[in-house]
Amino acid sequence: MVGPRAEGQAGAGSGPDCDAVIVGAGFAGMYMLHKLRELGLTARVLEAGSDVGGTWYWNRYPGARCDVESMEYSYQFSEDLQQEWDWSERYAPQPEILAYAQHVAERFDLRRDITFGTRVTAATFDTERGQWRVETDGGERITATWCVMATGCLSSPNKPDFPGQDTFTGATYHTGDWPHEGVDFSGQRVGVIGTGSSAIQAIPIIAEQAAHLTVFQRTPNYAVPAHNAPLDPEVERFFKAHYPELRAKAKQSRNGLLYLHDTNPVSALEVPPHQREAIYQERWDKGGLSFAGTFVDLLTNQEANDTAAEFVRGKIRAIVDDPQVADLLSPRSVLACKRMCVDTGYYATFNRPNVTLVDVSEGPVEALTPEGLRAAGREFALDAIVFATGFDAMTGALNRIEIRGSGGQLLRDKWAEGPRTYLGLMVAGFPNLFTITGPGSPSVLTNMLPSIEQHVEWIADCIAHVRGRGAARIEPTPEAEEGWVAHVNAVADRTLFPTCNSWYLGANIPGKPRVFMPYIGFAAYVEKCEEIVREGYRGFVLGG
Ligand code: FAD
Repeated sequence: MVGPRAEGQAGAGSGPDCDAVIVGAGFAGMYMLHKLRELGLTARVLEAGSDVGGTWYWNRYPGARCDVESMEYSYQFSEDLQQEWDWSERYAPQPEILAYAQHVAERFDLRRDITFGTRVTAATFDTERGQWRVETDGGERITATWCVMATGCLSSPNKPDFPGQDTFTGATYHTGDWPHEGVDFSGQRVGVIGTGSSAIQAIPIIAEQAAHLTVFQRTPNYAVPAHNAPLDPEVERFFKAHYPELRAKAKQSRNGLLYLHDTNPVSALEVPPHQREAIYQERWDKGGLSFAGTFVDLLTNQEANDTAAEFVRGKIRAIVDDPQVADLLSPRSVLACKRMCVDTGYYATFNRPNVTLVDVSEGPVEALTPEGLRAAGREFALDAIVFATGFDAMTGALNRIEIRGSGGQLLRDKWAEGPRTYLGLMVAGFPNLFTITGPGSPSVLTNMLPSIEQHVEWIADCIAHVRGRGAARIEPTPEAEEGWVAHVNAVADRTLFPTCNSWYLGANIPGKPRVFMPYIGFAAYVEKCEEIVREGYRGFVLGG
């Protein structure tokens, strides 16, 4: 590891091995490393995968791509970087986003401080020394003053453990841990379990390859068309010419996305039905997540939401030939209460003669068998099974690590009734530990790149502040944390978000406490973070 050492911090005598350990080399860990180097700190990044990219390293399933438009789904901390990189499509495919992450690693010479193929198993705070001791699956122990968890919100695949799992003689795959060499399903009978975002992207492509595709659906999801296409050179020119203003504008929105500035400030109930229909149609034709912003009250008023939901159900009925299949594919839940999906030909795929939809809402997948699986009392013969069963979101990757704070308290225990943080950034009783896009921050409800950058910059400023004050330790007070948790809940309760069984609430993981984890409102959140800093890091205590 090279790079300047901060005096009195690292390297000397019984000092720590480095100033900071960063866990994870996705977009969060990469930028954190860059930022800490700028501060003159020494840092080591530990990454389970064999390269950078995080989400885009692991999720190599067919059809994987971002659903935030490429021109917005990118770093903004370097103007040169955003000028020099060219995206090929409106929504970049996974290989291109991975190539972008690799380009960033090269451009900022990040890899020399990253150890790949190394999983962090434990992190323990040594109160006396004021150091974190980080342990890896390779048996290495590294000490550091600061520990930054850049472990990702959607990086811990939810792999259900069906009875008979080991007896199945065919191949199994999880969308979030896809083989690097790809999979050719030609001539095979394939089963896909799950119909969330990843499944909705993968199903149309698997259906084109497979001899037969059976989709096992527990809950239908709303999908709006992507209308993906080669990136319009005019759009690219416009963005590149106006990036600073556009990025600043996006930061003023609820999701850190420009499209929300197009949110119609009108209630869905204020416009006559035929006009409302035309406005929905306009958004549908435009494509993408902006559909959720068609009217201002879609996520606060059930009746307003019903109008949008019925519009989408009408589309499904129009696209899908078999009325029974269309009915099964039609969600009854609140639209956009669960992450909305952005699709390319998803509903039309169910018109193909080689595709069958199986409803497992009442009779679930019971077991895997040597020949396939048993669900809803029926046997299905399969050559390959794809688990599109999502992630243990937001807390999964953190809870898999034995993180012990002051007095040996285990983070997993502290969070037994649901995650508790201050700003989603720090946890009382766990000094000098930061969680990038942690629970209690806007994270998964936003364009995640600006959320990541905001957190990384806040953390770097915080560390500089602590060092500037001659201190060595910072953590939130239990009262500040308590207040923040209550505030996150109060904001969520003003919306329809907590009313449905989403992974935002942990509802996809059996036994996970039902707590709404992300903070709603990017602009309001950023303002809170800045206000707390202006008031001398209100709610934090410095020490050491
Ligand atoms: P990640 O990219 O998840 O990286 C975390 C890294 O930490 C991983 O590489 C993991 O291996 C590593 N790690 C975790 N635990 C350990 C450990 N114990 N030891 C060592 N390493 C560890 N967001 C959007 O804003 N727009 C989109 O369009 C979008 N599309 C998505 C599509 C898919 C299929 C998925 C799964 C997510 C999508 N997301 C999207 C969310 C996406 O996760 C974020 O945008 C972003 O990539 C997160 O970066 P990160 O660095 O925080 O986390």
